[in-house]
Amino acid sequence: MEPADIGVTHADKHDDGTHFVEDAAADGPAAPTLGQVLLAAEELWPESLAENWDEVGLVAGHPSAPVTKVMFAVDPTLTVIEEAVEWGAELLITHHPLLLKGVTSVAATTAKGQAIHRLIESGTALLTVHTNGDSAVGGVSDVLADALGLEGVAPLTVAANGLPEEGIGRVGDLADVMSLGDFAARVFGILPSVAGGVRVSGDRDGLVRRIAVCGGAGDSLFSEVRANNADVYVTADLRHHPVSEAREAAVNGRPYLIDVSHFASEWLWLPAAASALGNVLADQGHDVEIQVSTTNSDPWDFILTPGGD
Ligand SMILES: [Zn+2]
Repeated sequence: MEPADIGVTHADKHDDGTHFVEDAAADGPAAPTLGQVLLAAEELWPESLAENWDEVGLVAGHPSAPVTKVMFAVDPTLTVIEEAVEWGAELLITHHPLLLKGVTSVAATTAKGQAIHRLIESGTALLTVHTNGDSAVGGVSDVLADALGLEGVAPLTVAANGLPEEGIGRVGDLADVMSLGDFAARVFGILPSVAGGVRVSGDRDGLVRRIAVCGGAGDSLFSEVRANNADVYVTADLRHHPVSEAREAAVNGRPYLIDVSHFASEWLWLPAAASALGNVLADQGHDVEIQVSTTNSDPWDFILTPGGD
């Protein structure tokens, strides 16, 4: 599946940033300021929903700068930043933080410093929507649950500072019982194509209906998955020991585990997030062009398997 472009609306460039708000009243929709886009983002993905270890929000940019083009991506890699700059985006919104741990320098001699320089020198703002984007309604795991056809969806862990429907991970039911093999094929089919594919632990013919999902690395949620009686847990970055121990502790083989690409599991959120932001901005009378990055930032390039090509 190719990452899709979603042009929400087309904005005319204005020369004078100070007149955007007045223009909206006089001439119809106009480009918002970065500050106005941040308010719209806060409405969708409140920063209060972020985990306390996380760093979300504005990384670079002037709130008074006009924004006519916004690009969404999973990772703020140099390739993604270059794509945003070349397209003319004044704002790049990424799921993963560029700066999560403390730094003492942003000199362009390091990869992160180079990214910061490219952003600032090109006038491209960077906004991180990370665990607040996971937790929110319409967030990463919600989109994954929806794409898999789950019904009666609820969080695996309810957010500390949010509504009962907000939190990390989701659990819900398939409309019909299906085999683990068929369900894994469904998972494979909805995700963007990546080198690592999809790995499954469990009986291919075992029947499943109750499904837990967590976009990104979800191996800290095994006890919540078991407490919710999930037949299958779909998440990313599963390592040997947590998986081995979870399989040893399984009851009747369940929960089965499906390990997907971290990038792919979160990429699905981008078109939904872009559309949601476009709608909020349009409701506020703003005109912004929004696209999803076409860069595959999954770091793996190829895989060898016993039965592979
Ligand atoms: Zn992630």
